[in-house]
Amino acid sequence: MNNKYPIDGSRDALWMATAVAAPPTAPLHGDKRCDVTIIGGGLTGLSAALHLSNQGVSVCVLEAAGLGFGASGRAGGQVNLGLNLGPRQLIDKFGVDQGERLIDTVVRTPDHVFSLINELSLQCDPVQNGWAQGAVNSRQLPGQAALAREYEEYGCSLELLDGDELAMRTGTSRYKGGLFVPMAGSLQPLSYTRELARAAMASGASIHTQSGVDGLQSHGATWLVSTATGSVTSEQVLVCTNGYTGNLVAGLKQAVVPVRSVLMASEPLSDNLRKSVLPNQVTFVDKRKLILYFRYDRDGRLCVGDHGPMRDAFCASDYSNLKRRVLDVFPQLIDTRWDYHWGGRIAMTKSTLPFFHRIAPGLTAAMGYNGRGVGMGSMMGKILADQTIAPSDQTSAFPVTVPDKFALHRFHSAGVSMAVKWYALQDHLASL
Ligand SMILES: Cc1cc2nc3c(=O)[nH]c(=O)nc-3n(C[C@H](O)[C@H](O)[C@H](O)COP(=O)(O)OP(=O)(O)OC[C@H]3O[C@@H](n4cnc5c(N)ncnc54)[C@H](O)[C@@H]3O)c2cc1C
Repeated sequence: MNNKYPIDGSRDALWMATAVAAPPTAPLHGDKRCDVTIIGGGLTGLSAALHLSNQGVSVCVLEAAGLGFGASGRAGGQVNLGLNLGPRQLIDKFGVDQGERLIDTVVRTPDHVFSLINELSLQCDPVQNGWAQGAVNSRQLPGQAALAREYEEYGCSLELLDGDELAMRTGTSRYKGGLFVPMAGSLQPLSYTRELARAAMASGASIHTQSGVDGLQSHGATWLVSTATGSVTSEQVLVCTNGYTGNLVAGLKQAVVPVRSVLMASEPLSDNLRKSVLPNQVTFVDKRKLILYFRYDRDGRLCVGDHGPMRDAFCASDYSNLKRRVLDVFPQLIDTRWDYHWGGRIAMTKSTLPFFHRIAPGLTAAMGYNGRGVGMGSMMGKILADQTIAPSDQTSAFPVTVPDKFALHRFHSAGVSMAVKWYALQDHLASL
């Protein structure tokens, strides 16, 4: 690996080397009609396609590149509770009725994913062994305890761990304690994405890859969605383009800031190392502004992730900080070889929550998972499907909102770079 941006965030992902084959798809040619057109072939769009076609709705998915080309095929693959705000904050923001529906959605997310995988026999290496979050100082422990109490009120039991217990679960004594989410876990995200597509196609959905949408027009009660080689007319359009959102829908791009995260995967670790680094294959994250996240793949490769630079192609030096941070937590990995390097765009929103936005009659967008979309994107797809069939803002499992736009969005790269420096300083001070 040299230092001239040779790393392609999608092609070089470990997941590309170990995923199940994608179902056969082709570009859209000619003019079609269906009930619902879905723009974006990631977890959100494909989950919506699956749940819609299971209910007899005719669906056409249009993906600009290949299935899972976006964040879905590059993710760390951790499946967790899915939102950055806790129950109390959600109630304060959305009120009791909508807040409680949302909390229920959040709490059910990991089981929703693992049950779906089980029911449909999706081949994606699921492991539901829990997710641990390590506190970097003892001042973070009361906040984790309060969060656990809040979730307990909603029937969701999280475990509080002291430093020794966290060390037992994760193998590192670097942390002061932590929170453990037993229903969380991990999966192979590209396989999961491709398998959702396969299941959606088996239920009747049509999926076209290499079919970037470059036109969207309203014609009375229908929408005409066009690509370079064809078009689809439908009553409903779902926009599921997340951090890869372009200028198709006015104002949508300004509601998300694409922040890069980089990941690397080790050689398969020896049994000895695996006994001391995340024994029991828990997934692990530290509680920092710029989080460090860990998990194993099915072959015993340790996958670790960190924030990245503000571009889509990566180079060797983009991983230096990550390597240093990993050794700080697991010094026994000093001689470990890192075989895979990749990364992608995480869609951040101003509220730090995803949004479900009815843009116009028949046109809906859902995105902005702030790094937690493997579970929540899957869940959002189901909610999109339910709400397309029987729309009701009052009963939606996810609040229907108008997302805030980022002022000066076109300068977001400079803004994110400054924020990263500020967060790094805060993290440094927090660890003293
Ligand atoms: C490096 C990394 C690590 C992550 N780790 C985790 C994790 O461990 N756990 C977790 O929960 N989340 C994680 N995430 C976030 C998670 O991957 C995403 O939230 C989730 O995959 C979003 O799915 P999606 O379908 O909404 O979007 P995406 O998967 O990004 O799909 C959007 C798709 O839209 C397509 N598209 C865009 N414009 C057009 C157009 N005009 N026409 C047609 N298609 C178009 C793109 O090509 C893309 O394939 C991570 C993300 C990254 C990048």
